[in-house]
Amino acid sequence: MPDRPVDVLVIPDGAAQPPRAGVQTALEAAATPVLDELAAQGAVVRVASTPTGLPAGSETGIAALLGAAPRQVVGRGWVDAAAYGVEVPEGLTPWRADLVYRSGRRASIRQAREVCSHLGAGAHAVAGHRLLLVDRDRPTDRQLMGLHVRVWPGGAPALGPLLVPTTLICARSAAAGCGRLLGARVVVPAGATGDVDTDLRGKAAAALAALADGDGDDGGGGGGGERIVVHFGAPDEAAHRHEAGSVISALERMDAELLAPLRDAIHAAGGRLAVCPDHGTDPVTGLHDGAPVPAVLWGAGVVPRGPRKLSERAAAGAPVLAAEDLLPVAAGAA
Ligand SMILES: [Zn+2]
Repeated sequence: MPDRPVDVLVIPDGAAQPPRAGVQTALEAAATPVLDELAAQGAVVRVASTPTGLPAGSETGIAALLGAAPRQVVGRGWVDAAAYGVEVPEGLTPWRADLVYRSGRRASIRQAREVCSHLGAGAHAVAGHRLLLVDRDRPTDRQLMGLHVRVWPGGAPALGPLLVPTTLICARSAAAGCGRLLGARVVVPAGATGDVDTDLRGKAAAALAALADGDGDDGGGGGGGERIVVHFGAPDEAAHRHEAGSVISALERMDAELLAPLRDAIHAAGGRLAVCPDHGTDPVTGLHDGAPVPAVLWGAGVVPRGPRKLSERAAAGAPVLAAEDLLPVAAGAA
């Protein structure tokens, strides 16, 4: 048991959705008894997870929720280079690119490796259709082997430091990259895929271990223990594929496999639990949405307020907090 109460933040990536008349959002449609209980007993607010003027995306929203809201556009290349351990020599920039068919369908990792061998040194096939092109200037989009290389816009690395030692449990993804850039201790459990097939029980087990441990011991930066963040990418990936039903089932799995065990352990430890998406992802358009997201904070010292249900429509009148104010540093924690 840790000496001090621990805060736990769960980030269901892209789980908020712009409400449409006559259609339930995933948060409204999903059967989530644990989340409902957190909302009824805790504070339901809205969080400006996408700072004004910045594009909605994980590289921005996750950094903001970790407590280091970016002030300028975050370069996804820097985030992915940190996630996948790609070295960037002085003076060069890692550029994220996607390898896709003309229709936008993603190429395979095998195709990505072939294209990278054509592109030469500095081109890395890091996962699936994802490429990192390490170069001085932004490479141009191009066609190769009947496929399209689409290069993301540039930007700065996410910058820390974080105010509290943070352990981040996630797949090897943008979340991991953000965490490493910001100095969090990053734990990637076996079975974390970043998609709907991810092993959420594995992430819950890692979070419970970090809770029981209370002081990270792998020297990964910060010593861990005071804030535990669990990220999972399933809702975002499903929404990008326009699979509205898969977003709902991802939230139902979150409830049963992640929130239920965490709630019990956090209650026993006298800590706090927050659930907050990093941004919205609209399953109709497949695009990110930067509107304030509904969020809940529950646990020790939290005064119940706001609607008794966590959803975009229920929280529409709730106050909007800055991302770093969702989980203010606990009184007496410092
Ligand atoms: Zn995201």
